[in-house]
Amino acid sequence: MSLIVQKFGGSSVADAESIKRVAKRIVETKKAGNDVVVAVSAMGDTTDELIDLAHEVTPIPDAREMDMLLTTGERISMALLAMAIKTLGYEARSYTGSQAGMITDAQHGAARIVDVTPVRVREALDEGAIAIVAGFQGFNRDSMDITTLGRGGSDTTAVALAAALDAEVCEIYTDVDGVYTADPRVVPLAHKIDRISSEEMLELAAAGAKVLYIRAVEFARRHGVTLHVRSSFNNNEGTLVYNPAEGESVEEPIITGVAGDLTEAKITVVGVPDIPGKAAEIFTIVAKAGANIDMIVQNVSAAATGLTDISFTLPKAEGQRVLTALNAEKDAAGFANLLYDDQIGKLAVVGAGMRTNAGVSAKLFTALSDAGINIEMISTSEIRISVVTRADTLADATRVVHTAFGLDAAEAAQVHGGTGR
Ligand code: ADP
Ligand code: ASP
Ligand code: MG
Repeated sequence: MSLIVQKFGGSSVADAESIKRVAKRIVETKKAGNDVVVAVSAMGDTTDELIDLAHEVTPIPDAREMDMLLTTGERISMALLAMAIKTLGYEARSYTGSQAGMITDAQHGAARIVDVTPVRVREALDEGAIAIVAGFQGFNRDSMDITTLGRGGSDTTAVALAAALDAEVCEIYTDVDGVYTADPRVVPLAHKIDRISSEEMLELAAAGAKVLYIRAVEFARRHGVTLHVRSSFNNNEGTLVYNPAEGESVEEPIITGVAGDLTEAKITVVGVPDIPGKAAEIFTIVAKAGANIDMIVQNVSAAATGLTDISFTLPKAEGQRVLTALNAEKDAAGFANLLYDDQIGKLAVVGAGMRTNAGVSAKLFTALSDAGINIEMISTSEIRISVVTRADTLADATRVVHTAFGLDAAEAAQVHGGTGR
């Protein structure tokens, strides 16, 4: 008998009908002779609605109470799903993150899993039941408080359960047929990828392809969990995210996919003295503010003044905090002023074949220039090239680059549900 972990995202359990459909699908897997553990997200856009509600009450919601609020979303869907399964004549039990042994650190809103002790889930399986676990949530042993794993965190719940229970596969059910060469809502001619290495998936997730949450991909890679991303609306084979064996040579396309991200902003520190130690000073302040910075560009200093500008990108959600921290140290650090730009879009092309192929950057820049799209920043890693453009040109940029690298399919991709929010 195999153990299969199945994760259903919000769009797959958006209403009562969807929950019944998903229940049938889970029962099918059970009937086929497998043990089944399910991780479930909140229904539809519930999490976004709860966040909006909190902001109607207060501009800066308390982090502990926010987690308390948001975790209710997954409690609703887990209980309804268990009820629907029982109605089909199968035993099912729902568990909150803490009941399922999802132990995290204490960081509200972005907690990391430090241990998984799924004792009750095991018990349920041993007694022949299907275990339903609320996604995206955990419990901190020191504070005894409920935590959340960050937006999209139900993917991580599923992978962590799969690793702890030594599952055969972790199936991620969503509203598209798998991982595509670009977001099919932005690039209708994107095509489904049958197999993708975890390394490339990690880069795509980091670059904003929200079909899989980056921490879930990291977790799966570290623990050797095989992921199968597929649609909950049909039985098509989806995308296998695999860990190539040591030394395994795989036929790699030059470009595997294109991703866009509108959640970042750019800060420019203007008039920085061009002397050793200044960058260290500035980025120490930024690090102390707890920001996750990505691209960094330092301009050539003006000969007359010996001053330079340093720009970097970071999540919009962290923008205000970092600006405040930098402003507080402005005189000590000796820069002139700060600029904040939240109208940027980040585009990334990802492909392991880039390592051995020249001319990828030239092709990318040519495609953008032919479309009249200006590039503001560039950064590269071994298998990724990212550029910053204006936010309102990002969708066009993604489409022209997708076409330029020959990734367009003959037919438009099907998006089954969800609002793309
Ligand atoms: P769920 O509610 O199932 O977690 P998400 O909304 O988090 O679903 O993720 C699925 C969505 O991710 C798709 O509807 C699609 O718009 C978006 N997406 C972005 N990039 C990609 C990609 N490369 N492949 C597939 N989907 C993508
Ligand atoms: N419900 C949470 C969110 O919307 C977690 C998830 O869906 O993965 O971010
Ligand atoms: Mg998701």
